[in-house]
Amino acid sequence: MSWAAVALRANHRAGAAGAKLLGLGRAAQAPLGSARLWRPASAVATVKGELIKNVAPEERVRHTKVSVIGSGSVGVACAISILLRGLSDELALVDVDEDRLRGETMDLQHGSAFVKMPNIVCSRDYRVTAGSRLVIIAAGARQEKGETRLNLVQRNVAIFRVMISSIVQHSPHCKLMVVSNPVDILTYVTWKLSAFPQNRVIGSGCNLDTARFRFLIGQKLGIHSESCHGWVLGEHGDSSVPVWSGVNVAGVLLKDLNSAIGTDKDPEQWENVHKAVITSAYEIIKMKGYTSWAIGLSVADLTESILKNLRRVHPVSTIIKGLYGINEEVFLSVPCVLGENGITDLIKIKLTAEEEARLKKSAKTLWGIQKHLKL
Ligand code: NAD
Repeated sequence: MSWAAVALRANHRAGAAGAKLLGLGRAAQAPLGSARLWRPASAVATVKGELIKNVAPEERVRHTKVSVIGSGSVGVACAISILLRGLSDELALVDVDEDRLRGETMDLQHGSAFVKMPNIVCSRDYRVTAGSRLVIIAAGARQEKGETRLNLVQRNVAIFRVMISSIVQHSPHCKLMVVSNPVDILTYVTWKLSAFPQNRVIGSGCNLDTARFRFLIGQKLGIHSESCHGWVLGEHGDSSVPVWSGVNVAGVLLKDLNSAIGTDKDPEQWENVHKAVITSAYEIIKMKGYTSWAIGLSVADLTESILKNLRRVHPVSTIIKGLYGINEEVFLSVPCVLGENGITDLIKIKLTAEEEARLKKSAKTLWGIQKHLKL
C-alpha cells in the first residue's frame, strides 16, 4: 500500500495481527538504511512494547465500510455527517488531489478524540475502498466558463469510466450512490458503466430539493421541517417538480385549505417556496462558493437507511422507464424504499396531469443529452 493510505488505527492493528504495516505515515516509519532496520525487533524497547501486551491476534471482522470518492466540499461534508452519526466502522476516501485528500483525512482523524471515529483510510488507489458496502461518488469535473452541459457530462463520463470500473473491481457487491452533478445523468452513466442491477445504483436526486422544500414550508408555518410532509420529484435542480397535491401537516392537506396552492392563481403565492428551493443553491454558491452541509447531511440520512436496512422512503433518483408514460431510459426521483438491497420498491405517487407532463418533459431533456453520450 502506498504512503497515501493513512490509517487511524493501522499501527495498532498491524502490530497486533503481525501483518505488514498498512498505511503508516512516512514519519512513523524508520528511514531506509537506518541501523534500526538490522536490529532484531525484540531487542528494541518501544513505548508501545512496554505499554501493551498483545494477548490475541486481531481477527478480521465484518466491516460496515463506506467509501467516499472525492474529498472536495461535498465529499468531506458527506464523510463528517456519516462519521458523526456513527454509521460505519471504516471510512475510505479517494481523490486525485493527493494533498487535499491527505489534508482532509488527517484533519478528520484528529477529531477522533471527540467522537467515536472509525478507522479512516485514504488513497488515490482504489484498493483502499475494497469491501465497501456503500460507495458515495462526489467527484468530478467542474463546469468551465461557457462549457455546454453535454460537454461537461462527456468529460465526466471519461472520469467515471475509470472511477466506476475501479470501484466495481474492489467492491463488486456494493451499492453506488451518485451525488456528482448533473446527478440524474451521472447516475445513468454509473448504472451503464457498472452493469449493476438497477436497485444498487442510487442517485441522491431530489433528496436535497425535498429537504429544502420542507424547511421552507416549515419556516412559513412556524413548524419544524420534519413535521412538514411534501415531495419534490423528477430532475434534481431547476426543473424539479413540487407535488403540491400531497403537501400536508399531520395529515391535513394544504390543498384542502387553499385549492390554488402552488399555482399562479394562489393569493398566498406558495409557489415561491419551490422557486426558493431552486434559487437557494445558486444563492449559497454566490455567497460561499459551493453548497456542502445540507447535501452531506442528506446523504448521511440515505446512508443510514441503506446500512441499517430501515426501508424508509426517500425521493432518490432511479430508472423511471415505464412509469408516468415515460419511455426513455432515464433516472428521475420518485419516492423509493431504501434498504440494504438499495432501492427495492417505488411508491406509486398520484400526480396531477400537469406534474406528470413536467416529469415527461424532464425525461425528454435528459434523454436528449444521454443519447449523445459515448459510453
Ligand atoms: P469540488 O470541486 O470541491 O470537489 C470535487 C473533487 O473531486 C475534487 O477534490 C477533485 O480533486 C475530485 N476529483 C476530480 N476528478 C477526480 C477523479 N477522477 N477521481 C477522484 N477524484 C476526482 O466539488 P464539490 O463542491 O465537492 O462538489 C462535488 C460534486 O457534487 C459536484 O459535481 C457538485 O455539483 C455536486 N453536488 C451535488 C449536489 C446534489 O444535490 N446532488 C449538491 C451539491 C453538490
